[in-house]
Amino acid sequence: MKGKVAVVTGSTSGIGLGIARALGAAGADLVINGFGEAAAIEKLRKELASTHGVRVVFGAADLSKPADATALIENATRELGRVDVLVNNAGIQHVSPVHEFPFDKWDAVIAINLTAVFLTTRAALPQMLKRNWGRIINIASVHGLVASVDKSAYVASKHGVVGLTKVVALETATTGITCNAICPGWVLTPLVQKQIDALAAREKLSPDDAKVKLLGEKQPSLEFTTPEQLGALTAFLCSDAAAQLNGVALPVDGGWTAR
Ligand code: NAD
Repeated sequence: MKGKVAVVTGSTSGIGLGIARALGAAGADLVINGFGEAAAIEKLRKELASTHGVRVVFGAADLSKPADATALIENATRELGRVDVLVNNAGIQHVSPVHEFPFDKWDAVIAINLTAVFLTTRAALPQMLKRNWGRIINIASVHGLVASVDKSAYVASKHGVVGLTKVVALETATTGITCNAICPGWVLTPLVQKQIDALAAREKLSPDDAKVKLLGEKQPSLEFTTPEQLGALTAFLCSDAAAQLNGVALPVDGGWTAR
């Protein structure tokens, strides 16, 4: 991927960081994004650049704000010259039954998980169309394919991402652009650690027992998917071998959606 520029949203942590590492290892220049302490982000930026010998810049967009989502792509293009790969990964969760779901939480989940994906895609597509090459990879979830209780906003947003992915794939089908969604099952990141901690507290379980219970309810492999596996899949989707892989939602879920 030498000479290509990849923007990975939400890459200061978890899955996004695993994807940024894999694309950097493949030679792409990177725009990383997400929250965190300025010093820690700068350390990460330098580490990615020196480990892989690529240019890395930080795009400080808060993707709950529409103007920031568009500016992320504009700034990336100004600073690194182009955007060839867009990985929409930033996402949040809020857990509550529908009849008690706070409206501001609903709005925040939809804004970050779905509307920002539309906005960055809209901003990046014109230059991809001009060069007749691009890769848009949306990190949806198994919850883009099936539902779970108490996750109304998240499930609605991720089903929305899978639908948006298919439309972008069709609209660009005769070009060198592809658009696909990756649908991970449980991945042990800060987002899921919060749910494990809540389960342990609610059911008075040890942290290890809570992990086993969480996996056992949904993921038949009884193992977490890893950010490294998702990074490798993203790099594959950017390759020429994946040029005809378009508009799909790929589960990486240890069998969750096979049931
Ligand atoms: P995480 O909490 O570890 O990381 C989320 C990243 O998004 C962080 O870098 C955070 O700073 C960033 N972010 C959050 N709000 C943002 C905002 N307003 N603007 C910019 N950046 C923001 O979470 P993760 O588990 O790595 O999740 C990454 C993606 O994978 C999400 O879209 C999530 O829905 C999806 N996913 C996660 C799992 C899982 O089990 N962890 C499973 C399926 C899908």
